Amino acid sequence: MGLFSDVGRKVEKTKQAFTDGERAEYVCVACEEPLDENYEYCPRCGEDSVEPAA
Ligand SMILES: [Zn+2]
Repeated sequence: MGLFSDVGRKVEKTKQAFTDGERAEYVCVACEEPLDENYEYCPRCGEDSVEPAA
């Protein structure tokens, strides 16, 4: 588990550059853009439709 959390921390910093949906924690329900933060407004379409992906 120690190794996993180390990798997880690195991914946390870099995944913003490649949000491909697999690791996204949030998603815009308007345009289905995967997001790594709970944006108040979707950075892609501008709708306030960001919801937790899970
Ligand atoms: Zn959107």
